[in-house]
Amino acid sequence: MKLLVTGGAGYVGSVVSAQLLEAGHEVVVLDDLSTGHEDAVPEGARLVRGTLRDKASEVLAGAGFDAVLHFAAKSLVGESVQKPWLYWDGNLGESLSLLDAMRTAGVRRIVFSSTAATYGEPETTPIVETAPTRPTNPYGASKLAIDTALAEYARLFGIGAVSLRYFNVAGARLTGSGTSGAGDQGERHAVETHLIPNVLKVALGEKDAVSMFGEDYPTPDGTCLRDYIHVVDLGVAHLLALDACAPSTHQIFNLGSGSGYSVREVVEMCREVTGHPIPAEVSPRRPGDPAVLVASAEKIRTALGWKPERDLRVMVTDAWTFLQGR
Ligand code: UDP
Repeated sequence: MKLLVTGGAGYVGSVVSAQLLEAGHEVVVLDDLSTGHEDAVPEGARLVRGTLRDKASEVLAGAGFDAVLHFAAKSLVGESVQKPWLYWDGNLGESLSLLDAMRTAGVRRIVFSSTAATYGEPETTPIVETAPTRPTNPYGASKLAIDTALAEYARLFGIGAVSLRYFNVAGARLTGSGTSGAGDQGERHAVETHLIPNVLKVALGEKDAVSMFGEDYPTPDGTCLRDYIHVVDLGVAHLLALDACAPSTHQIFNLGSGSGYSVREVVEMCREVTGHPIPAEVSPRRPGDPAVLVASAEKIRTALGWKPERDLRVMVTDAWTFLQGR
């Protein structure tokens, strides 16, 4: 298939682009490089630099694309609370431009990176796709609005859309065996908020200690539980979702493993993998963090036959190899 990957210079988008190329697809990446990296775009993909608003219709018009995989987004929860307009415009506004460009060019399929943040604070766990959607920040709200727009475009214009609601993505895609080299893809955020890369930065000597945000949650060890999945497993789900797009239908799948690890367990795993003592200090809760966010992975397993193959140890090992090679 001929595929447009928006945000293909970012962490998840670049990994999935490489997997799509490996599966024999033709890939064009559209990315404004505001947070992505030109050298993360895999060899074999063509990069068009620009925003969706400026470039999507020009790229798609008359070019015979079969589908779009839409990763381009702003994704910092804290920033979204400070500057919500950046998220309404940057996520929803830009996505509407993309959908309109698809409609005009006759591109009929889209796989979209949605998020567990669309659910907000869960009433019951694990979270099923029919759970109430009550996002607690503009990031989650803007992604939920895009899910709604996709449902409308499916109903009104017959496109086939799949929203994959990511839980916690981790790990890296390594091209060598055990040592990081050119072509490896992993997390390289200018502002790093995620747990695993922040813990590993201590082992790398870039930070003295990791902060664990809160130890008084109603969980077995008092720290938050999250559902981590390996970025390569996540990519596999995108390839399956692409094939599962059905005309006039918007499908939603959670993308998680169905089980959680605590912040303490993640820190401990990082100690085991790196052999570094990794000092950890407890700091106050981070506002807006639910105690437990774990996906029900039942729907995607049944409908697409997807299940994660790589556990927390593999995620941490691959992220560590990637970081050491940078
Ligand atoms: N966390 C932490 N220290 C950090 C970063 C994150 O204790 O330096 C905690 C955070 O409070 C949450 C979990 O780790 O409970 C996962 O956070 P992350 O930002 O990686 O993902 P989120 O679940 O917010 O999408």
